[in-house]
Amino acid sequence: MWLNARLDAWIKPPLSSHSLKTIEGASRPLVGLLAAAALADDRDLQSTIVARLAPERGYPIVGALAVLRAGAPHGAAMLGLGPLHDDCARTLTELVATPPRAPGDWSIMTQLGCKCELCARLGRFLRAANEQQFEWPLAKDRRAHVHGMITSYELPVTHVTRRTGSPYTLVLTKTQALFTRDATERATWMRDLAWLRENAKTPRRVRAQRK
Ligand SMILES: [Zn+2]
Repeated sequence: MWLNARLDAWIKPPLSSHSLKTIEGASRPLVGLLAAAALADDRDLQSTIVARLAPERGYPIVGALAVLRAGAPHGAAMLGLGPLHDDCARTLTELVATPPRAPGDWSIMTQLGCKCELCARLGRFLRAANEQQFEWPLAKDRRAHVHGMITSYELPVTHVTRRTGSPYTLVLTKTQALFTRDATERATWMRDLAWLRENAKTPRRVRAQRK
């Protein structure tokens, strides 16, 4: 329950690269807990924990894979990781099958947690596939809010204030990082899926030996 509360806090948006590192770092303690549950013969606790880590229920796939990797030397079957393995394989298969970003598609589909009017406008610009730049006359505190959102969500968007006119103009520009990030992410999905397929045999073999 202690860990469950921590996981809830960590996966709250914006899911920053720092949060993802924390989530990945939790994989070894999670595996330790699963192993302890196995020793105590508490299969219910094991399946509760494993269900909590399911990407299909919103847990970051990076975190789920980190648990599978940390658990692999101990045997996925002993830790009850079989369902998580299958869930990740299904999720990654779907992701890999999605069409890659087309050249010139500038849409950023990140959901912003803030519901204010500025974020609604920012969200429209982010989602627009054919808009790379947006010039936004905006007073200082309003610019600060937009700066803050772009930074905390680590969006591939530069946000520069042009100090002429009144109010000053905030110039937002989506960067090429949008394309390189997508390509890197896709390469990671492929690599992870290959790893899952390679390691799919192990739990089955262990299960067979137990019978
Ligand atoms: Zn806002």
